[in-house]
Amino acid sequence: MPWNRPLIIGLLVVLLALTWWRLQPEDEEIRRSQLMMGTVVEIMAGGQGFDKLDAAVDAAFAEMARLDKLLSSHNPDSDVSRLSQSDHGGDVAAATAEVIALGLEVAQRSDGAFDLTLGRLKSLWGFDQETPTVPNRDALATALAGIGPEALSLEGQQVNKRAPQLQVDLGGIAKGYAVDRAIAVLKQYGVTSAAVNAGGDMYLLGQRSRRAKHPERFWRIGLQHPRQKDAVLETVQVRDRAVVTSGDYERFFEQDGIRYHHIFDPQSGLPARGCQSVTIIADSVALGDALATAVFVLGPQAGLLLLTQYPQAEGLIVATDGSLHTSPGWAAYQVTP
Ligand code: AMP
Ligand code: MG
Repeated sequence: MPWNRPLIIGLLVVLLALTWWRLQPEDEEIRRSQLMMGTVVEIMAGGQGFDKLDAAVDAAFAEMARLDKLLSSHNPDSDVSRLSQSDHGGDVAAATAEVIALGLEVAQRSDGAFDLTLGRLKSLWGFDQETPTVPNRDALATALAGIGPEALSLEGQQVNKRAPQLQVDLGGIAKGYAVDRAIAVLKQYGVTSAAVNAGGDMYLLGQRSRRAKHPERFWRIGLQHPRQKDAVLETVQVRDRAVVTSGDYERFFEQDGIRYHHIFDPQSGLPARGCQSVTIIADSVALGDALATAVFVLGPQAGLLLLTQYPQAEGLIVATDGSLHTSPGWAAYQVTP
């Protein structure tokens, strides 16, 4: 029966492919976490050769620790602390300059919704301390004086500050940058499958490793529902992409029935009120991190408008009333239930 031949050949090919797949050894998978950058950083790497993966994960953590030292305002010797203490700025490491350059670009494009100079405002609210408090009007006005996208400028690795009292805060972008660098180090070691997560700032490299216990190879990420603890709002499927969420449920306190959280509107100095959460999927975590914070401050309409300037980024916004808003390309990442 000659009409049957293509079918038989097809079946044979499928059978051979399945046999080949089953004969392949399982991948190793390493999963490790460390407390750094004020959060739990988790690195998962998969592939062949435990020792190589082990060395790669060590090196990725070391790179993140190096960046934490440069970019954290808690470390008195960091570039950020030195800039804040200086009258007019100074020289910084190449990595710090790169973070500031991207942060300033997002600051300009978001009309100052993203702001690297609100360090004094952040200290005033005291979210890093035991008991954060709502500041009074005068204190807010003082902390906001002179801040904005023009308050910092960069020439190569030289940062210029417009006024001595300005304090730099890279909290809205530094974790994302550090995750990008960790991924770059893993790649240098030849790792092709990895997930790095720094408290909601993630990058998913390649496909998931080959393991019998999870035969599916896609990275599927359940996005946290901003108002129902442990509930998934949506699931996305990605490869070689950053997935970053900014939410008002991450760090907050309540006073007189009002929720005060850690993402500030630089216009008022108060927590931004337009969103419950924003998730950005982008090609870099640093960009995703800055955009998630910026879109959160702008709210759904102006936030989606900002995203039109970034074709490499898509977003899902949960507005204050719980309504969902997405950029046009978001649907490509959605896993239909
Ligand atoms: P994220 O969790 O990425 O949204 O970042 C929140 C952190 O970013 C805060 O803890 C502050 O350090 C910083 N931050 C808060 N508001 C802003 C803002 N409007 N622009 C830039 N950074 C901000
Ligand atoms: Mg951010």
